[in-house]
Amino acid sequence: MPQEVLAEAAAEMLDWHGSGMSVMEMSHRGKEFISIYEQAQADLRELLAVPENFRILFMQGGGLAENAIVPLNLSRGGTVDFVLTGSWGQKSHNEARKYAAVHIAASSEEDGFTTLPAPATWQLSQAASYVHICSNETIHGVEYHELPDLKALGHEAPLVVDFSSHVASRPVDWSRIGLAFGGAQKNLGPAGLTLVVVRDDLLGQALPVCPSAFNYKTVADNQSMFNTPPTYAIYVAGLVFQWLKRQGGIAAMEARNKAKAALLYDAIDGSQLYRNRVAKDCRSRMNVPFFLRDESRNEAFLAGAIEHGLLQLKGHKSVGGMRASIYNALPIKGVQALVDYMREFERTQA
Ligand SMILES: *Cc1c(COP(=O)(O)O)cnc(C)c1O
Repeated sequence: MPQEVLAEAAAEMLDWHGSGMSVMEMSHRGKEFISIYEQAQADLRELLAVPENFRILFMQGGGLAENAIVPLNLSRGGTVDFVLTGSWGQKSHNEARKYAAVHIAASSEEDGFTTLPAPATWQLSQAASYVHICSNETIHGVEYHELPDLKALGHEAPLVVDFSSHVASRPVDWSRIGLAFGGAQKNLGPAGLTLVVVRDDLLGQALPVCPSAFNYKTVADNQSMFNTPPTYAIYVAGLVFQWLKRQGGIAAMEARNKAKAALLYDAIDGSQLYRNRVAKDCRSRMNVPFFLRDESRNEAFLAGAIEHGLLQLKGHKSVGGMRASIYNALPIKGVQALVDYMREFERTQA
């Protein structure tokens, strides 16, 4: 979270704009909250340059719930294609299996999820209802720097993208997307809000068993207020959207994120102690896993990091090693502090 946003939320906690209420105390149907909601929708549409024919839905349940909600809404009883490039794609695939016939069109599991299979090699089903990818694999640190163009591959199926962990870090090519979803908690705001951006021709195809609160058409027709939305999370995300605009928008964030990632990857590649296993053309700008060549030093590295105020660097348990998550809100001086510490630690190992 940007500190500026936390300070704003704190200042407005007891009395939002002279309303005499905290945002938490507002009716979601009252004019105060409606104004917060409409501003957040408009700011997000502007920031991500979401075209008019896409609906922005503020839902709940997180990325994991979307793994079920997407097939319930879009599979139409047909086959769904998956491209697996890390743990999140695997999770999505395993969940979708409960609701649809699934087919793995490509996977980089044999490479330990360190590469992206070239779209031209994907074995897409002829009549897939949609093709699912995770555009930034948070645990393995693998990112699509260009989205696949399914039309160019001769496929009409909509592309479904889990962009949970890098939404708002770079521009989005909506011409290649049918639906994108993401939990808010990495780059957009507090946990509890789930963003879904869906092309309007994909609405209204849900399976009969789809819960009403998770039916995209129902949610869209009710301006995300079929049931009570996560009002406070929407409000804080709205403050983040305004912060993003003050930073210069998504293009400026992308430039910053490129610089942050380059600083860290250059330090890793230029060292004798650290390494990153991901192919250079698909390294994530948000999540940077790295390993000490001598893994017996892991605990010492982490203990020293904490002394330097560098927290939460331990890698995901399924991958091990370290992982630096350098989301939008982390300033470049945070990455510089990490790189300085990594160099200092390497010198003490000589
Ligand atoms: C964090 C994350 C999720 C999280 O889902 P939740 O249900 O919100 O915990 C899903 N997909 C990706 C790629 C993630 O990084």
